[in-house]
Amino acid sequence: MSNAQPTHVVPLEAGAGPENPPCPACGEPLFGWLPSRPGLSGPVSRCESCGLGVVAAPGEPEEALRELDRRGGEGGVRIANRASFAASLGNAGWAGLEPDSRYLFTLEAVRRLVARRDQVVKSRRWAPAAGLAATWQTLLNSVTFGHDVALGALGRGRATKAPEAWQRRIDALASIVLAIPALAIAIPVELAGGLVGRGAVLTLRFELL
Ligand SMILES: [Zn+2]
Repeated sequence: MSNAQPTHVVPLEAGAGPENPPCPACGEPLFGWLPSRPGLSGPVSRCESCGLGVVAAPGEPEEALRELDRRGGEGGVRIANRASFAASLGNAGWAGLEPDSRYLFTLEAVRRLVARRDQVVKSRRWAPAAGLAATWQTLLNSVTFGHDVALGALGRGRATKAPEAWQRRIDALASIVLAIPALAIAIPVELAGGLVGRGAVLTLRFELL
């Protein structure tokens, strides 16, 4: 007895093609968002339907689910929200673009992904302290050569340091001098984001259907 099934070729959505591969979460075409830079494994594309971001070429949904599960902890799965005010404001400077990132999640993308294994998002909570740190770092990224320098120095994230020593010195100085001004902007941005479901960091819990 064989379990082999004939392979069905699913036609791609209109607009999809080699340049616009399908989103691992929802199947809609991905569009270019950001060019590659040091610390990233390739250019970043995004889905305009569910909001998922993908670094380099997209993989299978199972791969995205594995990355999601790696973000799990005691309180639930914690994601840097690509649909946050911080991500919209920061673009390439968004602190959620960490060196090991492959998939950049949104609540909607997570809903679509976990539905594949018969789960629903049971609860979502804004993580205000982590969100504020991410929004603050996103603002600082707009004035530094490197990426996530301040959080890296504080042991809260992985920095991508600037290539030249003089650039790294300026980055360290800018992160200190602008720490308080950036915080003064980050607080209202992140508060507003958190109140409308667009906080920078979300904690999600799933439940089996
Ligand atoms: Zn999608």
